[in-house]
Amino acid sequence: MQWEVIIGLEIHAQLATQSKIFSGSATTFGSEPNTQASLVDLGMPGVLPILNQEAVRMAVMFGLAINAKIGQYNVFTRKNYFYPDLPKGYQISQMELPIVGNGYLDIQLEDCTIKRVGITRAHLEEDTGKSLHEAFPSVTGIDLNRAGMPLLEIVSEPDMRSAKEAVAYVTTVHTLVRYLGICNGNMAQGSLRCDCNVSIRPKGQIEFSARCEIKNINSFRFIEKAINSEVRRQIKLIKDGNKVIQQTRLYDISKDKTRAMRNKEEANDYRYFPDPDLLPVILEDSFLEDIRARLPELPQQKLRRFQKQFGLSAYDARVLTSSCQQANYFEEVVSIAGDAKLSANWVMVELGALLNKQGLRIDDAPITAKQLGCMLLRIKDNTLSGKIAKTVFEAIAADEGSADDIIEKRKLNQVTDSSVILVILDDILTVNVEQVKQYRVADKSKRSKIFNFFVGQAMQASKGKVNPQQVNKLLKDKLED
Ligand code: ADP
Ligand code: MG
Repeated sequence: MQWEVIIGLEIHAQLATQSKIFSGSATTFGSEPNTQASLVDLGMPGVLPILNQEAVRMAVMFGLAINAKIGQYNVFTRKNYFYPDLPKGYQISQMELPIVGNGYLDIQLEDCTIKRVGITRAHLEEDTGKSLHEAFPSVTGIDLNRAGMPLLEIVSEPDMRSAKEAVAYVTTVHTLVRYLGICNGNMAQGSLRCDCNVSIRPKGQIEFSARCEIKNINSFRFIEKAINSEVRRQIKLIKDGNKVIQQTRLYDISKDKTRAMRNKEEANDYRYFPDPDLLPVILEDSFLEDIRARLPELPQQKLRRFQKQFGLSAYDARVLTSSCQQANYFEEVVSIAGDAKLSANWVMVELGALLNKQGLRIDDAPITAKQLGCMLLRIKDNTLSGKIAKTVFEAIAADEGSADDIIEKRKLNQVTDSSVILVILDDILTVNVEQVKQYRVADKSKRSKIFNFFVGQAMQASKGKVNPQQVNKLLKDKLED
């Protein structure tokens, strides 16, 4: 049996407001438990929530960026349930009338094709508190610092067909919210978390089958692993003659398995009703237009511009625009070096590796865009070979000065003077007469091996400073003599 995998995602993005969605409490991460919980967040009777306009503005930014219909009349509802981290006994959310309606996002898949994913809706809601479990002494405490943090819940259509597509979609949302500056995207701190709804159906079947929802995954890698393990579980269930029942499940990282948490509740279990403490939110056209006019260049737009303006491949453009900071860095490098492909390679490969190794973000790169751009100019004018440039690059990163300083100080100038190169080659050919003889009688593949041996010798003799193109040419001339 051939199975088709169906995935729809609910992403919770924590909005980067200064204060909470319905109270004036601060939103700083990592503070002492319960130091950022006001009477509103504690759910005390008699206090009233006041909507944070900044959260509304951020939700609208997102809505406009995904070409959605904005809910110009949207309503907060109470979602009622009991849990220790929810002192009010209800979560303020939105149900029938969300702030963001139907929209879509175009995502780039691994093979660089574009897929359009529908976004059903996005609504504002408050986060809950956290239960903190301590082993010694064995107690559980409640931290309400997170209670009332503003969330945008982004609900996709069941449009994804593999775990990889789901990851590509989350990556696209992650990039977008950071471009917009509405969420810091810090997944490890839970600023962006994801519920994955997964079902399978026999290839060719039209109706969807029962789905399971895997709750609260907060890394790209675990999204992929959790979905794949859930798919395996569902296939096995059906093969064994059982049925998938609609469930909420948790992903256990250490076992690489999902396990049942509870059978899925229906919407009416929550007794949703409009929150009488909050008025409906009415958004005027001018409010929306003002936000639209101030939207930054979006990732998709930047990606397309990079392809057109710099002639980059879809892949390079995607990698370089994966964060605004990286895109800006790249643009500054090209503006100095002039060569887009060369700049793209150095930013993506060498700088990427360096940042990775040192565990740094591009904002804290030990080499500035200007320094890198100036170094690339020295590759372009043949002062530096690509190989030596790597040494210079490392030296700049180690704070030894500019490319020109380092070339001067360490005498790294590439040798481009033919007469000097010829002297080096003559030496090599004299020392290796045997190879020269072999070369003259060898077949094609043997020849190229010997040829490369000579090139290697020339590189070694000059400590990598001879210009490789010139060496190739002069060596060929000499050997064909
Ligand atoms: P609920 O209100 O119970 O959370 P929704 O209809 O709002 O359910 O859907 C929640 C998420 O589940 C959406 O992202 C949707 O795309 C996804 N989804 C719905 N049906 C399926 C299915 N059969 N397989 C996989 N995902 C699904
Ligand atoms: Mg839901």
